Amino acid sequence: MRSVALTDRLYEYVINTGVRETPVQQELRELTRKMPHGGMQIGPEQAALMQMLVRLMGARRCLEIGTFTGYSSLSVALALPEDGRIICCDTSEEWTAIARKHWKKAGVEKKIELHLGAALETLQKLGGEFDFAFIDADKPNYDRYYERCLELIRPGGLIAIDNTLWSGEVLKARTRDADTLALQALNKKLAKDERVDIALVPIGDGLTLARKR
Ligand code: CA
Repeated sequence: MRSVALTDRLYEYVINTGVRETPVQQELRELTRKMPHGGMQIGPEQAALMQMLVRLMGARRCLEIGTFTGYSSLSVALALPEDGRIICCDTSEEWTAIARKHWKKAGVEKKIELHLGAALETLQKLGGEFDFAFIDADKPNYDRYYERCLELIRPGGLIAIDNTLWSGEVLKARTRDADTLALQALNKKLAKDERVDIALVPIGDGLTLARKR
């Protein structure tokens, strides 16, 4: 049995019956949806799944590469305990200003540390062990983000990689698109990567879960 095809009505049903959003999450999601690049935002059902994973793991130290307007980090922060922290990396002052405003409104700003600048440089400076990482930034750097996250994540920790189905473009045998090529190469590598257990979840635009062995 394959994943059921989600019609608009069935998707709406999923959101209305299977997702619990706070008013601030809903407000931020609606606001971002109407912005240019609003499609980059993860869906509420994916946020709920990520919250569930974070809660199940009892995660305290999290990483996010690619924050945009902050919906995913807000969701993760809401699922963290009081002393939990998420370090967010992004390059956009403009987008993360919206994120900051909503983190504050939701009362989770103390749990979130934003680093503006090239994520690889931020990741290089980090130390210690992390429980959970979410990679959702520039695709040509995905493999570098993954490798660095694998160093920073504890054994048993989880790396969630977004857009791994890339609207189905990963099927294209002859493409010159740098984003598609990067995702194809990473997917191929992950399929045989003995350092992790994997599950490619067909949610949103494809979310690969990689658990460090
Ligand atoms: Ca994404």
